[in-house]
Amino acid sequence: MSGFSAAGLRRMLSRLRDVMAGIGAVQERLDKVVALIADDLKADVCSCYVMRAGEVLELFATFGLSQKAVHLTRLRVGEGLVGEIAAHARPVALADAWSHPQFVYRPETGEDFFRSLMGVPMIQAGRVIGVLVVQTRQERPFNDWEVETLETVAMVIAELMAATQIVRREELFQSEGNALLHVRLTGVSLHPGVGIGVAVMHKPHVRIGRLVSDDPIVEEKRLQVALDTLRAEVDALIDGAHGDDLGDSYRDILEVYRMFADDRGWISRISEAIASGLTAEAAVQRVHDDTRIRMMQVSDAILRERLQDLDDLANRLLSILAGGGMKAELPDNAILVCRSIGPTELLDYDRRKLKGLVMEEGSPTMLAAVVAKALDLPVVAQVQGALNRIDAFDQIVLDANAGQVVLRPSEEVVDLYTAAVEARVKQKAAYVAFRDLPAVTRDGVKISLHLNAGFLLDMHGLTETNADGIGLYRTEMPFLALPTLPDVKTQETLYKQVLDGAGGRPVTFRTLDVGGDKIAASSTQAPEDNPAMGWRSIRLTLDRPSLLRQQLRALIKATAGRQLRVMFPMIATLAEFDAARKILDMELVRHARHGGRPPLSVKVGTMLEVPSLLWQLEELAKRVDFISIGTNDLMQFIFAADRGNTRLAHRYDTLSPAVLRMLSGVIAACDAGHVELSVCGDLAGAPREALALVALGFRTLSMSAAGIGPVRAAIRSATLSELGSFVRSRLMAPQASLRESLRAFALDRGLAV
Ligand code: PEP
Ligand code: MG
Repeated sequence: MSGFSAAGLRRMLSRLRDVMAGIGAVQERLDKVVALIADDLKADVCSCYVMRAGEVLELFATFGLSQKAVHLTRLRVGEGLVGEIAAHARPVALADAWSHPQFVYRPETGEDFFRSLMGVPMIQAGRVIGVLVVQTRQERPFNDWEVETLETVAMVIAELMAATQIVRREELFQSEGNALLHVRLTGVSLHPGVGIGVAVMHKPHVRIGRLVSDDPIVEEKRLQVALDTLRAEVDALIDGAHGDDLGDSYRDILEVYRMFADDRGWISRISEAIASGLTAEAAVQRVHDDTRIRMMQVSDAILRERLQDLDDLANRLLSILAGGGMKAELPDNAILVCRSIGPTELLDYDRRKLKGLVMEEGSPTMLAAVVAKALDLPVVAQVQGALNRIDAFDQIVLDANAGQVVLRPSEEVVDLYTAAVEARVKQKAAYVAFRDLPAVTRDGVKISLHLNAGFLLDMHGLTETNADGIGLYRTEMPFLALPTLPDVKTQETLYKQVLDGAGGRPVTFRTLDVGGDKIAASSTQAPEDNPAMGWRSIRLTLDRPSLLRQQLRALIKATAGRQLRVMFPMIATLAEFDAARKILDMELVRHARHGGRPPLSVKVGTMLEVPSLLWQLEELAKRVDFISIGTNDLMQFIFAADRGNTRLAHRYDTLSPAVLRMLSGVIAACDAGHVELSVCGDLAGAPREALALVALGFRTLSMSAAGIGPVRAAIRSATLSELGSFVRSRLMAPQASLRESLRAFALDRGLAV
């Protein structure tokens, strides 16, 4: 199949269209289609399985397998590799399909000759309607391009099948409410995991009985009383009044949130509406509607999120004014379904009974997503039509690893996912059991593993994973939803809590990285065409030095008598670093002048995430104590590929020889300049990628808590001398990526990746 090109794909698609649109019996056309695919992809087998009523996949046409099996071989969703592809709506590509635990042997197909298998779901209108499989006699790996090609082909066949009605329409598109067949909805995962349960519709809407008031003074009083109750409720949540040990972990989020409840602009607008003759609840609703309409016209994603948070507060306030009672009773396994939800609304539910969250809207930086992360609650957001298609009490399997919601799943699907949940629990337990083992390669090289954090809640990860410290503390995170930065005192308290939480382990605080896809203090700025390359991060804080000064002041105060590690983000020139460093020095002098206790030591570093810095490393090394590579940004700039654009997510591979050579050059420069070096971008948190980094010479990696267990296991399974020469010998390879060869290497050596 190698050597297949984009032009080849286009040709194949046009041939497919011709065959499907041509004359002849439907079966005949489908037979031609599979033969054509096998021929074009140089595979020995191509088979098309079609979903029939009752969640059964029927072999509908095949080239290469026994024709006797056509319409005879049937696999339930979840059964065998084909069933698994349909159940997860995910491709499978296996060099050795026979050794896969899900492999099911069907003698009637004559399958014994075929070793390798690649299969993809056929999806139409968001539903799996079949599975397309190719097989080869020779054992061979499949690359991502081949999988993508087959996915494109499958999509086209699915559309053509629907158009030509190869299978009766009612079978392909079961009517809503047909409980026999499942419906699969797709969204964006905000927190991974799998939840199995029944749908509970979250209904925040409160009906307002009375709109017009008799007496504005009485209504204003009611409003003030309700606001007091609102603040008390948020305070109660802040105090962890629900009697759980996680209360502390999202305290900082709620404190930020509480600031909304005190927002004077919001409250005075409600009072004005009351003065104009509305009841307190009608006034809240009115202001809320106005805000919504205004905010809806704003294209800025974060501002819209703020709107959702205000939604939460307004709903809570309305429910207080209306006498409460907006919360649904939960069954033991509840999957909460909503348009969007606020953090306190989410916390109101009994979290022991919550197994997942499905949202029609929502985005990764919304506060509810952060709370969900703290609760380890699987979340799938941006599920189009969720509210229309999901009914209360519907059975749901929420696969937040794949961003999927399976409605009314079959028993097999439930069993499959139940097994996945159990496996995950076991795996997590295994990582916890290994957390005290050092991350040392088989040949004795120690790798230091650090945690990336942004909220106090992330500090839990330190004990859970026994990481060596916080390699990246993203200070902007708790403040993302605020229009202005909190004062020095508030920041100081927060940073102290972080340091206390770290219990003496080093913490690297990165100064504010706002703007771009993250925003806070700049929310009033005009929209930019290229925000990621715009007025963000150090550029913004150097232009608004008071922000940086206040933050550094808070950091210096918080670290009195302890080690201060400060890192500047998005540095592109030496001059920028010098300017930022100068502000830090000024603040250190100021602190001393005021008689403040100085930090025990001060280490200053920079993120390496703008490519221009790559050619200034020698000079930079003379100025910094450490450098941490932010691969998320660095990759997007190196490949000129927006890190948030999912269409580009698989186009460039971080394990390309180009990237690895660049990284290897950075190591050499930092070694020569005696500068501490680490990687803190997402690259460091994936086992295979982490091994490549270690092979190149990195000895410090920083990642999210979820990455530490798997990366530790991978490191402990590898022999560095062997791995190092393998990777280094391929740095000049012509391939776009070393991923496949690294995978094969890992497989051969039994590495835990
Ligand atoms: C990075 O860019 O790799 C990084 C770690 O920073 P952030 O993801 O916060 O931009
Ligand atoms: Mg970055």
